[in-house]
Amino acid sequence: MSTCERDALSEASLPIRPPSHLRKYVRALATAADSSVPSYRVNEKRLWESVHDTAKWGATPDGGIRRLALTDLDKAIREWFVSTVKFLGCNTKVDEMGNIFATRPGKSSSLPPIGIGSHLDTQPAGGRYDGILGVLAGVEILRVLEENGHQTLAPLAIIDWTNEEGARFNTGMVSSGVWSGRYALDFAHALPAAEDKSKATTLKSELERIGFLGAMPASYKANPLSSHFELHIEQGPILEDEGKKVGIVTGVQSMGWLIVTVHGENQHSGTCPMARRACALTSAARMISRVEEIALAADGLSTVGVINSWPQSPATVPHKVVFSVDLSHHSSEVRERMIAETSEEFARIAQANKCTVEIEDIWNSPAVQFHPDCIGCVRDAAKSVAGENGVKEMVAGAGHDSVHTSDRVPTSMIFVPSKGGISHHPDEYTSSEQW
Ligand SMILES: [Zn+2]
Repeated sequence: MSTCERDALSEASLPIRPPSHLRKYVRALATAADSSVPSYRVNEKRLWESVHDTAKWGATPDGGIRRLALTDLDKAIREWFVSTVKFLGCNTKVDEMGNIFATRPGKSSSLPPIGIGSHLDTQPAGGRYDGILGVLAGVEILRVLEENGHQTLAPLAIIDWTNEEGARFNTGMVSSGVWSGRYALDFAHALPAAEDKSKATTLKSELERIGFLGAMPASYKANPLSSHFELHIEQGPILEDEGKKVGIVTGVQSMGWLIVTVHGENQHSGTCPMARRACALTSAARMISRVEEIALAADGLSTVGVINSWPQSPATVPHKVVFSVDLSHHSSEVRERMIAETSEEFARIAQANKCTVEIEDIWNSPAVQFHPDCIGCVRDAAKSVAGENGVKEMVAGAGHDSVHTSDRVPTSMIFVPSKGGISHHPDEYTSSEQW
């Protein structure tokens, strides 16, 4: 965690060169650099206690957390967050998406704040660290600054981004996406709650209900940041496997989903000769196996997580199968080639099995390259804490709010190891020694 602390504390010397309108502010920030900024450390024990004390809002008997966005449990931790940061000298602002910005004034009120953000919502059977660690590390930074009476040059904003997980309102990272302009506010407000079949409960109605529908526009223009840093658990096994303590995240891989529909023919399982069959499920099985080979050859990742067949009778050759394909790669170009090859191969396999296939590209997110100066800042801080051999440069495999902030302001992330690579699960664990 001392990496994150340093990101916040060394902002005066942060050599950011952000795009367009923010450049002048950050140049001012850099030229006013104060090389005597002290090097504070976070209080590991206090942060550990924050993580586990606040887990009471949504704690499950297996040690995990179920705290879906904008439920009463989310309301409770939001209220705790607001009262805690007020006590630590922050002004809080809530925007139209319920994103909370806890801003600690800097010496210069004309500079946009340096953002330190993540999320307090969880998956339905989530763990104690995903997202939460990033927000609570921000709170710990505020505590360290307060107890040392240190005022930073630029303000700091600790941010809780709403509904990052997309588990209750089915678009992940939607609120940082509205802030960055990637999603329209109306689209986000109308997202229905997953548990309400009538679709009457929406993200907006739940924001209103729990008292977190703010008046401030959810927009990087109305509410700018000068940069965004996000500390997060890795959610994969690489750091642990390689014995590294800190991941310097240089970007996020390209990812997305295809929905594949295979059409065959209903035939009697006992009377139709094998040579006459058009079995949609056999075709799908061959496709699933082939897409894995394509991903392996490209050094990418493929997952088929959902599959359904019709008509669901043991005595009938299935006439229709629908399955999902998740494809990712650190290069958007290579991922495009993987999709093209997958489409060609699926068409070939369908034809060879007397079937037809339709492929729908329902979601994709291009690869993101974080800002070199922010990466440099994380790199320097990480090496100073974990040593040259304790760090690893890596590309994030999962989406994060930083993907969206990166569209508008210099951004980077810091990873800490996840035990066994486990995440989105009650067994999620990161030792406090990693902080
Ligand atoms: Zn997360």
